[in-house]
Amino acid sequence: MSEPIDRAPGHDAPASETPGGAPGGAPKQASGSVDAKLGADVFKLDTEPHIVIDVEKCRTVCVQRACLQVCPADLYELNDQGDTTVNWEGCLECGTCLICCDAQALRWQYPRGGCGVQYRMS
Ligand code: SF4
Repeated sequence: MSEPIDRAPGHDAPASETPGGAPGGAPKQASGSVDAKLGADVFKLDTEPHIVIDVEKCRTVCVQRACLQVCPADLYELNDQGDTTVNWEGCLECGTCLICCDAQALRWQYPRGGCGVQYRMS
């Protein structure tokens, strides 16, 4: 088993040294706002995604594509082919997408120990 990555994609500094948000870097918001609080979180990335979409099931069974609406981190998108993708690296591990996926097209598990989001309260 390989070691987790502690750097966000596109960032040179370790994620633990880059408060300011999810991979991709959210702009700074007024302190005290939800965006500001989420922007203080850091992410220790695993080498494997902890969310995998069954694209065929998503394409053929799912009608509502609720994941596009419910993710608080707005991590789900449609690609050029109209298939759903997820930027799992910024996942807040709330589990909302798993609960809302009527088609049961997600394989979702928590990141391995030591990986994933680390919430910061200040
Ligand atoms: Fe988004 Fe929550 Fe699903 Fe993570 S677990 S992808 S934050 S809805």
